[in-house]
Amino acid sequence: MRRLAIIGVGLIGGSLARALRNAGAVEEIVGIGRNPAHLSRAIELGVIDSATQSIAAGVVNADGVVICVPVGSMEEIFRQLSGHLNPSTIITDVGSTKQSVIAAAESAFGYLPPMLVPGHPIAGTEQSGVEASFAELYRGRRVILTPTPLSNPQAVATVSSLWRATGAVVELCDASYHDTVLAATSHLPHLLAFALVDALANLPDQRDIFNYAAGGFRDFTRIAASDPTMWCDIASANRNALLTMLMHFNKEVNLITQLIENNDYNALHELFSRAKKARDALTPRLAATTAQSHE
Ligand code: NAP
Repeated sequence: MRRLAIIGVGLIGGSLARALRNAGAVEEIVGIGRNPAHLSRAIELGVIDSATQSIAAGVVNADGVVICVPVGSMEEIFRQLSGHLNPSTIITDVGSTKQSVIAAAESAFGYLPPMLVPGHPIAGTEQSGVEASFAELYRGRRVILTPTPLSNPQAVATVSSLWRATGAVVELCDASYHDTVLAATSHLPHLLAFALVDALANLPDQRDIFNYAAGGFRDFTRIAASDPTMWCDIASANRNALLTMLMHFNKEVNLITQLIENNDYNALHELFSRAKKARDALTPRLAATTAQSHE
């Protein structure tokens, strides 16, 4: 690509820019955002070549636009893009939910643009902002593209090669399947981490409790330091799948509560053993992702 516009130069957009620059995959990157100080910092860090707060100005002559803002802001961004893109400009995004992004695009444009190829890198950290971005974030990680029935095959191929240039492995799937799977493996764990920290913080003697927090607590709750706006947006955008997962999980918590109330430690041992077996089987696959663990 000659000219790429990245809307939202934070952790995900900044890491994408860095990786593409390192790979020599893009000649020029324009960063678009709300906060001029953040954009200046992105230029200082060499993440982008130039910056603007105006979407209309930033996308002029762009071959591609990557939207890297929280999913709740996507519709507004699509509205601002409408009427300012060349017919050949490829549009993609990195949002953690996919059906909501497709619906936002359709609502803003009044139709599904053929050059729209929705995407989601399964990589990240609990940190935010361009300072936290790094070029290796996507190396060896999966990026899921969820093309719509109207997505132009050439646009899908171009977005796939863009991500491959970052070292990522690209997979295609249906947006609804993506949202169901991610509700289970990413969105539910984040909600549980927020819930555990909040529950403990609300105990009367919580200061003392946190003094004794160690490895298990740290591992379980690291993702509770993630950005609240981003996660509220995800909870709202993937509401139905998430509610189904929460109900399923609540049943399990109720079961464990009952087993302890009934002193049924044989059944509890069986449950723990089942869980350990399932987790042990995942260890080799998860080992590759320990450093970068969002989703
Ligand atoms: P981030 O570090 O907070 O970056 C978001 C950027 O978007 C910021 O630079 C912010 O710009 C900009 N922004 C926010 N709202 C905007 C708006 N209305 N108009 C223009 N710019 C706006 O967040 P992130 O972690 O990169 O997440 C971005 C997207 O990636 C989200 O959709 C998220 O679901 C998805 N995602 C995140 C992860 C992860 O681990 N974090 C992983 C995969 C996918 P200003 O600084 O100027 O406000």
